[in-house]
Amino acid sequence: MKEYEVECIRCGAHYTKEDVVYTCRKCDGLLNIKYDYSEIDPKQVVNAKGEGVWKYRTLLPFSNETEQVTINEGNTPLYRCDRLAKSIGISDLWVKHEGLNPSGSFKDRGMTVGVTKAVELGVGGVACASTGNTSASLAIFAAKADLPCFVLLPKGKVALGKVAQAMMHGAKVFSLRGNFDDALRIVRVLCEEENLYLLNSVNPYRLEGQKTIAFEVSEKLEWNVPDRLILPVGNAGNISAIFKGFSELNILGITDEIPKMTGIQAAGAKPVVDAFKAAKAEITPEANPETIASAIRIGDPVNAAKALHAIRDSGGVAESVTDDEITEAQLELARVEGIGVEPASAASIAGLKKLVELGEIAKDERVVCITTGHLLKDPERVISICEAPIEVDADINVLRKMLRAV
Ligand SMILES: *Cc1c(COP(=O)(O)O)cnc(C)c1O
Ligand SMILES: [Zn+2]
Repeated sequence: MKEYEVECIRCGAHYTKEDVVYTCRKCDGLLNIKYDYSEIDPKQVVNAKGEGVWKYRTLLPFSNETEQVTINEGNTPLYRCDRLAKSIGISDLWVKHEGLNPSGSFKDRGMTVGVTKAVELGVGGVACASTGNTSASLAIFAAKADLPCFVLLPKGKVALGKVAQAMMHGAKVFSLRGNFDDALRIVRVLCEEENLYLLNSVNPYRLEGQKTIAFEVSEKLEWNVPDRLILPVGNAGNISAIFKGFSELNILGITDEIPKMTGIQAAGAKPVVDAFKAAKAEITPEANPETIASAIRIGDPVNAAKALHAIRDSGGVAESVTDDEITEAQLELARVEGIGVEPASAASIAGLKKLVELGEIAKDERVVCITTGHLLKDPERVISICEAPIEVDADINVLRKMLRAV
């Protein structure tokens, strides 16, 4: 059995693998899963066989005998994007498309580990608050594990494809008259009271799964990490997780650098960006977050402390982009590189553009952008920004004329 500890990042209190705990009972600080790295053989990481999240089980908090709740998550493509790079004015750009996970977002990486942990703990059910993708993913893994699943969604604020997934895979779906931050606050209390296992990204086991993004990026680049990694930031779990992944490779001596972690938020929901720019240790929550990028419409990101540490410690930055900039980037990525993403994911590309224009990103940096969710998650948005299909009679002469007029 691999040894690890669950440690509070604020006061250092320790918890065991049997404890059902999400934040520190003494100080409410975030928790971190910590291994004895001197006991881990780097060769087992570098020479690991298989594919996806569980390929890296040497660095996951389970024994080799644990029965995994898996639907082949991870192992997403890392595309080299020369045409987009040229248009933005840099030379070495890659996009890792996490929208190609089984449920269409990176959340699957966290859920395969989180729901495997739920089964190990023997909980009675699982629950989450969600802007959409967390609920879609949790519903699938709960179905696979035969666990009751409860999800709280902010009413009218969730993209259609995501609600459809949660419903189809059998979650009990509640539509909350409130925003995501309200939903998370309520579900946290309910989980404590009702013996449900909470699978929002405050749960440190979820982040263990998501850190494998760092392993896959590094491995694809032959263990030479990129200069910079850019991704959208909502509840700020993913940026914290990926930073942890890169840090572990560094501690093990597999890689010699950590990429500059660069977090992008939407202009109407940017507490992490504000705290970063003001050099503050804590965020001021945004009471009424607004953006078309519903996956990052979050005013009080629970992992802000970890994310600010990741950005500062790696020499990265945090920046915000407008909804128009997000839409423009979404269209360009789709039409120049053939990569279809939902709005939140396009924030990484919009952020890259802006930071290149500001001179914050050097033209010769090797940049990896993470696109977090698939285009089909949010079909309503597509319909509102693209030219509508043109209705025509079934007459070849009419079509001939119309095509020639283009
Ligand atoms: C969850 C999600 C995010 C935000 O990730 P955090 O870990 O909450 O910062 C961004 N994009 C998409 C598509 C998501 O589903
Ligand atoms: Zn503590």
